[in-house]
Amino acid sequence: MTHDVTDLYRNSIVDHYKNPRNYREMEGSNRKGEGNNTLCGDRFNVFIRLEDNRIADISFTGSGCAVATASASMMTENLKGKTLDGALSVYSEFMELLYGETNPEKYRLLGELSVFSGVRGYPARIKCAAFAWKIFHGALEGNPQPLYTE
Ligand code: ZN
Repeated sequence: MTHDVTDLYRNSIVDHYKNPRNYREMEGSNRKGEGNNTLCGDRFNVFIRLEDNRIADISFTGSGCAVATASASMMTENLKGKTLDGALSVYSEFMELLYGETNPEKYRLLGELSVFSGVRGYPARIKCAAFAWKIFHGALEGNPQPLYTE
């Protein structure tokens, strides 16, 4: 890829960064995770309310760079209301988008999240894009330890 980002990538990320969706603490969450991406300084808390194997609600708080914040925002939009299995499928697909082979046609569950193919080739940015998702995944597994990445 080149060092240019597409307008779609830039606009989408700026929009979610300036106006993050589901950015709030949650009363009554039954899964919670926190993390600190020390390389970049991103710090997030992720709140999940699971009901009948479905993500009834998901939100986040904290502060992060544009890529990390936009990814967290889009994550909550995408996963809210999904079954646990459905959410894990999206998680897997997003990880493949970031770390796997280049084949945008394959990514059917990601929607707007596909813009993060723009960070491929930039390992530090990939960590930012993956950050909230790894907190989410750890929280589902009931991992009580904060996630640290560097
Ligand atoms: Zn970051």
